[in-house]
Amino acid sequence: DEIVSPDAEGDERAVEAALRPKRLDEFVGQARVREQLSLVLQSALRRNRPPDHVLMSGSPGLGKTTLAMIIAAELGAPLRLTAGPAIERAGDLAAILSTLSEGEVLFIDEIHRMSRPAEEMLYMAMEDFRVDIVVGKGPGATAIPLDIAPFTLVGATTRAGLLPAPLRDRFGFVAHMEFYDVSELEQVLRRSARLLGVELPDEGAHEIARRSRGTPRIANRLLRRVRDYAEVRSGGVITRETAADALSLYEVDGEGLDRLDRAVLDALLRKFGGGPVGLSTLAIAVGEEPETVEVVAEPFLVRQGLLARTPRGRVATAAAWAHMGMQVPLDALG
Ligand code: ADP
Repeated sequence: DEIVSPDAEGDERAVEAALRPKRLDEFVGQARVREQLSLVLQSALRRNRPPDHVLMSGSPGLGKTTLAMIIAAELGAPLRLTAGPAIERAGDLAAILSTLSEGEVLFIDEIHRMSRPAEEMLYMAMEDFRVDIVVGKGPGATAIPLDIAPFTLVGATTRAGLLPAPLRDRFGFVAHMEFYDVSELEQVLRRSARLLGVELPDEGAHEIARRSRGTPRIANRLLRRVRDYAEVRSGGVITRETAADALSLYEVDGEGLDRLDRAVLDALLRKFGGGPVGLSTLAIAVGEEPETVEVVAEPFLVRQGLLARTPRGRVATAAAWAHMGMQVPLDALG
């Protein structure tokens, strides 16, 4: 159980559900996405038609599922939740699509992991609200067209670039979710503290916010760990020191880097002299799947200016050497 893993685990889901903003005006940050989405939704409501399909791209924990729920709530429409890996065959998707009610919002998380045949079925469903059910095999197979109720697809992916162009092009609106800045995370934390009945002074909120990797899910999780620590060690008061001590205990450093981030940097610096090194070689060196390194660690390291992705591979920046307390070797300076 990595404390800064961006994925929700175990009983965390119940707490997350309680902390989710329910309406667009409670959703913190992402000002541009919020404004664009608000226009899309308002105009759909005026025209009394389901809005265009929405694609959200961004790292885990930035609020994609929350926004999908908000879209349904703002439209007063029912919501169906599923995920790409759960849709293995076209039939799995047909079963969902054929039971949607008019105007329903269908959320497909990790939409880039859907199987190919399902993806092709989705193209037609998105465009014409129709699917072809193939009956039989080989030369005798027939396609039976089936109308489906007009619906709104909300897809989420960690990177829009992972989607094939024909799928990406069928979304009328693409929302790029950015990492949150420290003051936005402070707002998220103050709201969560209120809901959890935790007293959170500004200095404590600031200390947690700046170590949360720009990610609300991580901010909320760190808040709960810091609250536990403060209850046991300092009478429940979350001062700057309590927050900092608690987070060091959980191996979250002053810039919010966790064990995996530091392992990646450490391998890049010590084993590969700062790079360039390919993603899969780097992943093997830290004992992780390439996708974990690419989706979980890298976006944050790149954003912090510690790592660069170049055509020749991953490269450490001068800031990375400094952050890890190491001297830049002379030959790494080119
Ligand atoms: P994703 O689907 O992108 O992985 P989620 O929507 O599940 O992320 O969000 C994870 C947690 O972070 C939720 O508990 C949610 O309450 C919180 N959260 C995310 N974005 C925001 C936001 N903009 N304002 C307040 N809380 C947020």
